[in-house]
Formats: sequence, C-alpha cells, structure tokens
Amino acid sequence: MNYALELTGVSKVYNNHINKKKKRALHSLSLSIPSGSIFGLLGPNGAGKSTLINIIAGLTNKSSGIISICGYDQQLYPEKSRTFLGVVPQELNLDPFLSPREALEIQAGLFGVRKRERETTKILEKVGLSDVKNAYARSLSGGMRRRLLIAKALVHDPPILILDEPTAGVDIELREMLWNYIFELRSSGKTIILTTHYLEEAQKMCDRIAILNKGSLVEFGKTKTLLHRLKNKILIIHLNKKIVQMPNFPTTVIPKIKSDGSLELSFDRTVISTEKLIDICRDNHLSIKDITTCEPVLEDVFKLAIKD
Ligand code: ADP
Ligand code: MG
Repeated sequence: MNYALELTGVSKVYNNHINKKKKRALHSLSLSIPSGSIFGLLGPNGAGKSTLINIIAGLTNKSSGIISICGYDQQLYPEKSRTFLGVVPQELNLDPFLSPREALEIQAGLFGVRKRERETTKILEKVGLSDVKNAYARSLSGGMRRRLLIAKALVHDPPILILDEPTAGVDIELREMLWNYIFELRSSGKTIILTTHYLEEAQKMCDRIAILNKGSLVEFGKTKTLLHRLKNKILIIHLNKKIVQMPNFPTTVIPKIKSDGSLELSFDRTVISTEKLIDICRDNHLSIKDITTCEPVLEDVFKLAIKD
C-alpha cells in the first residue's frame, strides 16, 4: 500500500521553562495513513490532536520517533516534506490588510510556485471567494476566513491537506460546502488529515479514524471496521398498550421502559437476534405498533475508547 504518512513511535514532551515541569503530550504513537483517504483524528480536549497535527506540519518539534511523509523522512528532508503538505491551522490567523488574492499570491511565492503556474483565480473560485477576492481579509466573515485558509494551504497543490478543526463554529451550509470540497479533493487523489469534535460528521465523512486520549492512541482503523466491532444494539418497541408486566428476557438483554411508554431493549447482537426478541414480546402478548433499531455509532466507539 502507498502511504501518505507513516508515524513510528512519535512522542512529545513539552518543557515548561518557568516551573521546570514536563508535560508529556504524546506517548509513542505509530500509525500509517494510506494515500487518497480521509483520516479523522478524534479525541477529547487536551488529548494531543493539535500537538500531533503541528508536529506533522513541521510547526512543533517532536521529542522522539520517525515521521515519513510521502516516503520521505521528515527529519532528513524537512524542506521536501513541507512541500507535500498544505496546513490549515485551528486559529483563523490571517493578515487583516491583505486581500484573498494577495494572500494566495504571497503564499504561492513562499512555496516557490512560478507566476505562470499559479492558479489563484481557480482556487478562489473553488472555495467560493471570487466575489471578495480584492476585499481586506479583516472584512471577511469567519466562514470566509476559514475558506481563505484552505485556499492558502492549496496554492502549491500539495498531495496532503491537513486541517485542524475545519468545521468548528461553522454553520451547516458552509460545513456542507467544505465537506463537498474535501470529497472533491480526495477524488483528485489527495489525502486529507483532519481533527474534529463532531463524531457524527467523522463517522459519515472519514474513511479511517484514530482516537487519541491523554496522548495515547486508543483506537485506529477503518471507520467501518471500528463500528462493526461493536456488538451492542438497541431495539425500541412501540406498543399499542402500556406494559403491565415485563416479559422475562434472557439475562444478556437489558430492558427499559422509556418515558413515552415504549420498550427499549439493549442487547448483544452476537448473542441474540432482533427476531428472537420480537418473538419473546409476542409470546408475552405485547401488542406491537412499530419497531426501530439503533446501530452502534462512532460515539459509542469513542466512549468505550476513552473510558479509563
Ligand atoms: P487537543 O488539540 O487534542 O485539544 P493539544 O495538543 O492542544 O490537545 O494539547 C495536548 C496537551 O499538551 C494538553 O495537556 C496541553 O495543555 C499541552 N500543551 C499543548 N501545547 C503546549 C505547550 N506549548 N506547552 C506546554 N503544554 C502544552
Ligand atoms: Mg486542538
């Protein structure tokens, strides 16, 4: 397999020069991200997501370990590795007096993109900033600034795009637009690495995810595989009449009567089937109006992973 990014034993210790304390932010992380995938880095606040993203981006020094970007050791080839990456930081830091067009031109200059090879107009169009291309950045809305940062990260056409919390505080419309654009970039062969707080979003959009907790990697794999591993399932049975007596379910099933009078059954789908549970209800003369089931969601994977 072709890997866009490979980490081996990456650790980070922050040294506080004032109180002389050390803060271990990453514990020997190893993971590989195949080219052309959307990879989501998840974890609670303070887990080390930004630290890891910044180390990959070359903005923070790692304490130990090896990082290989498109096959190049980042430490041995720092300049080369930098050209493989487009980085969109968490903070909306932009020069307030530059217009989007100027910001992109300057960024292209920094990456040594020749004038005739620049695609400023096309990129501005792609991120929907053509109309404001000559306005001061300080007059742009938060959403526009976010899009400008993405545009800046793409000027040198890097194979890997790194986004730290791209959809934080972004309204639904822009979020959809960003995701469509991210999909488009993936179709063109780019690898996308992002952090997000939105688990539902990560479940829908990311091919692979990693969950960090307190600086350690607690889950890593294809999103589908991680979800499939969860055996817990929930069946909600809406009834025509209130339950008088709870049927005797096997001990592996956890029954609960919900506030609306429906019966919620939580069970291990590898031990008992939905059909069997419905049979038990029928045998106990419960009159079933409707049933709904809930499949495991990424939030369940997340909760299990960060449990101490
Ligand atoms: P996340 O992005 O997942 O919220 P961070 O990578 O920002 O987490 O932080 C991970 C841990 O490292 C936190 O405990 C944070 O306080 C600490 N940390 C982050 N940056 C620094 C720094 N510059 N100096 C010291 N500690 C830091
Ligand atoms: Mg962060």
